[in-house]
Parts: sequence; structure tokens; C-alpha cells
Amino acid sequence: MEPELSSVILVKHLERHNLMNGKLIFTKDQKSFPVYNPATMDIIGEAPESDFETVHQAVEFAYESQKNWRKVDAQKRGYLLLRCVDLLEKHSEELARLMSLETGKAIRTESRVEVSAFINALRFYSGLGLELKGETVPFNPDMLTITIREPVGVVGAIIPWNVPLLLMAFKIGPAIIAGNTVVLKSAEQAPFTVLRAAELMNTILPEGVLNVISGDGPNCGAALVTHPKVKKITFTGSVEAGRSVYQLASEKLIPVTLELGGKSAMIVSDDVNIDRAVDGAFASMRFTRQGQSCSAASRIFVHENIFDEFLKRLKQKLNVLKIDDPMDETSDVGCMISSEQYERVQRYIEIGKNSQNAEAHECGVLPNDPNLKKGLFVRPVLFTGLSNQHQLCQEEIFGPVACLISWRDYDEVIDQANDTNYGLAATIWTNDFHRALDAVHRLEAGFVQINQNIVVQPGLSYGGMKNSGLGKEASTESMLEHFTHKKTIIANLKSIK
Ligand code: ADP
Ligand code: MG
Repeated sequence: MEPELSSVILVKHLERHNLMNGKLIFTKDQKSFPVYNPATMDIIGEAPESDFETVHQAVEFAYESQKNWRKVDAQKRGYLLLRCVDLLEKHSEELARLMSLETGKAIRTESRVEVSAFINALRFYSGLGLELKGETVPFNPDMLTITIREPVGVVGAIIPWNVPLLLMAFKIGPAIIAGNTVVLKSAEQAPFTVLRAAELMNTILPEGVLNVISGDGPNCGAALVTHPKVKKITFTGSVEAGRSVYQLASEKLIPVTLELGGKSAMIVSDDVNIDRAVDGAFASMRFTRQGQSCSAASRIFVHENIFDEFLKRLKQKLNVLKIDDPMDETSDVGCMISSEQYERVQRYIEIGKNSQNAEAHECGVLPNDPNLKKGLFVRPVLFTGLSNQHQLCQEEIFGPVACLISWRDYDEVIDQANDTNYGLAATIWTNDFHRALDAVHRLEAGFVQINQNIVVQPGLSYGGMKNSGLGKEASTESMLEHFTHKKTIIANLKSIK
């Protein structure tokens, strides 16, 4: 491990900087916005509100750099990425602390876990250089027909704040290994961890391969999408922003990958071990991340025979969670990211409480440390008595709020699980082999599991159906499909002398 830099010193070093052409650039005349520690609501630093001109500069650097980067042989690109992985690993604790500071995620249960997943994902991509293979096509015996995979050019990447490092890896990893260069726009709420990781990587990567700027969505993000030299956009965020990105990109006719929201279903049959399923619901709802996950199982359909027992045990589990200072090793849950999200979640909780037949089961206790009194802590809430048609079961809340719905008929519950505009993830919990296989075929979602709910993994295609998005990420195939261009080459084997 490197000697650890304190988060405060790091923020001072990073604030009001972008990273372009290998260097941190101080944005002295540019507007900036405050970044908060959501556990105290203290401002920790300022991040640049990059304008069109800044986006333009970053893209130009990436464009120039790509001319050389595409010529570096693929294994060498992978080797450089692997050296980045080694360096990032040495700085993992520093990155985890910085992440907890700016996102409010608990260090032990979330930030360290994410840093390790981030590093793991980059390690996976570093090994994909020789997978950039083309084909030979038996088109005509007198012609040698082959396809090759070429980089697309400059990739624009836009990420949200909930798992900033992990999502950064799923965007920059495939782009860079395939010979593209990147301009990544961080999320307004969490710019520093991503910038620090990029700074470290830039001590190894050639200048201009990885550029990171901070800025808002409608101006800076849109400027990146519309820039003529950006040839691909990879985006993770809300459906609303994703639509706007897609519209803008359509003007340029460039490919877009969109990872958007979710309203994922978990279906629990009455033949399961209840404790195991309750543990599964706990993990699936990402309660330790305050439910701030697009694949969170926010609709939990439990068979009526075990419904009461399931609810009782899930409440017991949530009641002992320690919701407290994100930096404290003993905290299980930190706080929410921003006042905006906090208020949004509170509004949904109020709507739920005021709905007919609804019961709100609020679990756990809020911290009593006076230093945290302004912090954005929320007690997890389980709602019962709401139908799948209710607003809370149809709209993405992105907070620690789950709806438990009782079911009796298997076909009906599958229909209900599919009755949503989203289709990111789904799980079925049963010991009936036939039912499990039937369900995974019928569930309309991109990432479907039986008797578990693990998160996106390097090597496995991840992405939604319906409003949950377009295109896949995280796998070798998605790297090939979305970050390369397939060129067909035909050589006439006959002499023309
Ligand atoms: P949230 O509202 O939860 O923050 P968003 O989808 O608004 O989610 O933000 C995710 C990312 O998308 C952020 O980096 C944000 O700046 C960016 N973004 C938001 N709106 C747009 C837009 N219209 N065009 C491009 N990027 C956007
Ligand atoms: Mg938004």
C-alpha cells in the first residue's frame, strides 16, 4: 500500500480541476459547483462546471491521442491497463475513503467493495486485447474475405453518482482496450474519486487516452454528445436523460449504449428456505447502499403462504442495521447522495403512507451523532398493501424503499412482474426446477437469476430491455459490439497482370 493521502488533502488537490491530455488542469475562470459530504452537508470542495469550450478541448486531445493509441498493439494496451490496475490497487483505501466522503456510502459495506470491483473490472478488460479478432468469410474461392475490428475513435462516456468507479470501469475499460480514447464526464455529485482514479491511470497511459471532465448534464453532457468528433456515446443514468442523449446522438447517427433505470422484481415461492430468501431480498434491495441501485429488487413478490413470516424476518434484519457515519468501520449503511434525491425519496414515502390499504414498515434507527444531524440518512421502509399498479411499484424510487406484494397464482405473478416499463433485472426463488426455468424464460429483463441476486460481473453481458436501456456492457461481446467497428476486406486472389 502507498502511504494514504487524506481525503481532505486529495480534494484540495483535485478541486476545480479537469484532467486533459495527461494533466490536471486548473479551471481558474470557469464556473464551478459545490460538492457535499452528504453525511454532514458540509461543502467539501468545488468542481468545474465545464462549458462547451472545455468539452471541445478535451475531445480534441482525445482525438489527437487516438491517432497513436490505435496503432499501439492490443496486447501492449492491455499491459498498460494492467499496470494501471496494480497502481490503483495500491491506492484502493484512499479511493474508498474519498468515495465515502463524497457519496455517503458506508466504507466497509460499499466503498471498499466497489473499489475492488472497479479494479477487478479493469483487470478483466486488460486481458481482452487479443479478443479483438475478425473472421474469415468463405465468400468466394478466388477472393480472400476477412473482417477486422477497428476502434471507433473518441468515445464520450457519461456516468452517474451511485457507483461511479464501477461504471467508469465498464465504460473506459472496453473503450481503451479496443484502441479508442475517452472523454468521460463525471456526475455532478461525485466528481473527485473518478478524477483521482483517472489521475493515477494517467501516470501510465499515454497523454490524452483518458480525459475526465466534470460538468452538468444539459450543457456539458449534451456538448459531449453533440461534438462532431465524438463517435460513440456510452451513458448510464436516468431514463429522462438517456432519452435526451439518444435524441441528440441520432442527429449525428452515432451508436449509443444506454444503461437506464429499473424496477426489478424478485419472486419468492413458498417452497424456499425463508431465511435464505430474506437474506437474498436484503442483498437484492441493496439496502446497504440506501437502495441507490438501478438493479435493486424494489418489487418483492412473496407467496401468500409465507408472506407474514417473510415480512417479519426481513424487518428483523433491517432493524439491526447500523445506519451511521459512512466513514465508521462499524456502519452498515451510510446516507443518500443529495438533498434532491433525499427529498424525492421522502415524497415517495409520503405518497405510500397516504395510500389506501398501505402499511409502511419503517426499520432501523437514524444516527444520533450531533455532527450528522444534517446528514441525508433514511430509514429503510417496506410497504405492504400496495398493488403492482401503484405509483410506488411502477416508478423508480432509487432509495431504501421496497414494496412487498403477496401472490397466489404463478402465471399471475409472472404477468405482474412483467407489468412495468422497465426490464433490467429479475430473480425467481424456488426449489422447483421446472418453475425456475420457466420463469427465467418468461421474465422480461436483461439480467435474470435463480435463487440469488448478484450484481453485474465482468464477463457477463449486462443491460436492460424496455425503458431500462439499449445495448449491453461488461462482457467481451459487448466490447466488440459497441466499441469497435467491423470492416469487411475482400482481396482478389487472381493476378491482374
Ligand atoms: P440523476 O438525476 O439520478 O442524477 P441523471 O440521469 O440526471 O441521473 O444523471 C446521470 C448522468 O447523466 C450525470 O453525469 C448527468 O450530468 C448526466 N446528464 C443528465 N442529463 C443529461 C443530458 N440531458 N445530456 C447529457 N447528460 C446528462
Ligand atoms: Mg437528473
